[in-house]
Amino acid sequence: MSFKCPVCGGLQVGRVGSDQYYCWNCFLEFNYAKGRVNLYEVAEDGSLLAIDESAGII
Ligand SMILES: [Zn+2]
Repeated sequence: MSFKCPVCGGLQVGRVGSDQYYCWNCFLEFNYAKGRVNLYEVAEDGSLLAIDESAGII
């Protein structure tokens, strides 16, 4: 089972948790919850910043 990045559509996606994935192209983490994708930017200190798609960042 392979995942495409929901942002760039690329296949350079690695699994980083039980339900968490990382795109090496976008440098974003994402997971799927209740049928929708949640995106996270990885901060310099390693913490995850949720990206609100409605904010127009993507
Ligand atoms: Zn990507």
